[in-house]
Amino acid sequence: MKEYAKIGKGTVLVTDGPLKYIEFESLNRYRDLLIHFMSTRHGGVSSGECSTLNLGLGRNDDRSNVIENFRIICNATSVNMESLVLTNQVHGTKVCRVYESDMGKGLLRESDLKGTDGFITTAPGVTMVTFHADCAPVFLFEPSAKAAALLHSGWKGTLADIVTKAMDEMKKIPGFDAGRVEAVIGPSIGFCCFEVDEDVYRQFRGKYDNGSFYSHISGTKWKIDLKAIIRARLAEAGVDIRNIHDCGICTKCCKDLFFSYRGDRGRTGSMAAFMQIRQ
Ligand SMILES: [Zn+2]
Repeated sequence: MKEYAKIGKGTVLVTDGPLKYIEFESLNRYRDLLIHFMSTRHGGVSSGECSTLNLGLGRNDDRSNVIENFRIICNATSVNMESLVLTNQVHGTKVCRVYESDMGKGLLRESDLKGTDGFITTAPGVTMVTFHADCAPVFLFEPSAKAAALLHSGWKGTLADIVTKAMDEMKKIPGFDAGRVEAVIGPSIGFCCFEVDEDVYRQFRGKYDNGSFYSHISGTKWKIDLKAIIRARLAEAGVDIRNIHDCGICTKCCKDLFFSYRGDRGRTGSMAAFMQIRQ
């Protein structure tokens, strides 16, 4: 028996026994066309710093635990585990278009999709998967063209502007209209908690010169509003600001529910975001 509770802005926390995962109301409006969700840290079999629903293969965890955790969340959401295609993220801007022939890559078989931080698909039944533990997941869906993208936009990806790269790729899809895109920025480190040194601040300021993105703490310490930058990049790429939904959840502030790289001082597991054009 699943229970549903509202958290953040437009976010639904689904509790299914020990398992907890989230969905977004703006994308649930398209549930006939789209499957999407994101895991939390609850409901898996991993222990220690990866307790309990670690989905990252590169973490301090046994592969068998990660596979079992994928099985648990896929069963609960009625997603075929063989349909998953996983990124192997490098904090870059490479976004791969994926097809039915890519299903299983990165989990059930070797992947030739190297160095990719995002996927785009129009192929029904292909489940895109990205990994997060403070870095923002960005879900993009264009319901008329039936095109979806899922991105990992951490601070490096945000600085390098993976959002614009992905939107440029999506615009090549026949019938695609940026103005119809629904965009969701999922749980990730907030303006409240993303502190950086002067050098990182200067890189951002040199590229995105809008004072509202930054807050000076003291000395060489600054805060950067990564989600505001992502929202601005989406708007610049033609997404209607009314269709840009920031769930407003900071992973570090909510580290009891979400893995947080900074909140757990680097010793943590990984959540995953999932998105599939329904078959
Ligand atoms: Zn915070």
